Amino acid sequence: MRSGKPTRGGSKRAGNVRSGEPTRGGSKRAGNVRALLVGLVLLSGLLGCASVSRVERGGIEVITITHDNTNVHVVKQGQNAFLFDSGYEKNTAKLEADLRSAGIDPAKLKAVVVSHAHADHAGGARYFKTTFNVPVVLGSGDESMFGKGENEPLCPTGLIGSIRHAEDQAGKYVGSTADVFVTGTLELKELTGIDAKAILVPGHTRGSVVVTVGDLLLVGDLFRGSIGGYGAAMHFFMCDVEENKRNINKVMTEIAPRTSQVFVGHFGPVSAESVRSYFDVK
Ligand SMILES: [Zn+2]
Repeated sequence: MRSGKPTRGGSKRAGNVRSGEPTRGGSKRAGNVRALLVGLVLLSGLLGCASVSRVERGGIEVITITHDNTNVHVVKQGQNAFLFDSGYEKNTAKLEADLRSAGIDPAKLKAVVVSHAHADHAGGARYFKTTFNVPVVLGSGDESMFGKGENEPLCPTGLIGSIRHAEDQAGKYVGSTADVFVTGTLELKELTGIDAKAILVPGHTRGSVVVTVGDLLLVGDLFRGSIGGYGAAMHFFMCDVEENKRNINKVMTEIAPRTSQVFVGHFGPVSAESVRSYFDVK
């Protein structure tokens, strides 16, 4: 399936998942279990969707390529382009084909900036490094995870996280090494030709990184988009929820206060307004 707005069709489906809350009556419970199963089936169908979408703002273009509900973003300005995230290792051939269709020559990418070393974000990075000599930029805290290619412990924050936990926890890829480490704030201009910054925001993982470019913000799994629509939501996995809220506050008020739109790892994009409202950013 291909469409410009993959999450639109998801809203009704998400309703099925959300309706699976515990109730007192047995028949209601059976109905809820059925609704949950239907929701799961539909959700797993959603996971197979692929899409490509573009946003342009002030000469900066963000092209979002989605496979298995995971976003890879191309940040492009003129002839310069870099990847933010790289998807699952199993999807690299599809990602490469989509990049070429979007007019991006993988060999000319200036970098792959990895938001964090989970398999769905970092799994494809090694391919671009070894095949096209594209340097990999990684948050320093995720060096060992990226080296092993195994997800560190995931903590579900809700129903979908609990359901997905076993499969996502088992995520693996061939480990690799990064070329540039983000230890604080890294100016990306020299490496990529684009006036962007990569900033270390440990939380979802020890080496999680966000990127600011103009008034656009790319956050990996700091939070996610709502399933359907353009709202913000807490990510499916977060081990310290309070720290996560503090981090989101810091990013939206100190690191990138001018943000208008946020590109997330899953679903989205998300308006800055909805992030401020959902996470009570002050
Ligand atoms: Zn993650």
